[in-house]
Amino acid sequence: MPSHHPAPPRSRRQFIALVPALGALSWCVRARADTLLKETDPEAIAMDYRADAGKVDAIRFPKFKPGQTCANCALYGGDQGAASGPCGLFMFKDVTAIGWCNAWEKKA
Ligand code: SF4
Repeated sequence: MPSHHPAPPRSRRQFIALVPALGALSWCVRARADTLLKETDPEAIAMDYRADAGKVDAIRFPKFKPGQTCANCALYGGDQGAASGPCGLFMFKDVTAIGWCNAWEKKA
């Protein structure tokens, strides 16, 4: 019986090396799902994002028409009926379905 332990097979070593990466990835996915864009976030300010389209200043934004919301914007990726979802503009944060920003575009 040899006294030394054989080295783990290569595939096992590769898997072990991957574990921290997988952990970081699942953390990112969870963090992303938990993070709602705030009106005070710099990227939100840059796009004049409002969490409630009803609060959009129609004088400041003449292109805004009542009825326009993230839920019917071309860049919105949330599930139908969900309160919030991802937006193509804000990579790591969700926007509210009833929100609006200056980049609103009619869903095709
Ligand atoms: S681009 Fe569209 S979905 Fe994204 S925040 Fe602006 S209005 Fe909402």
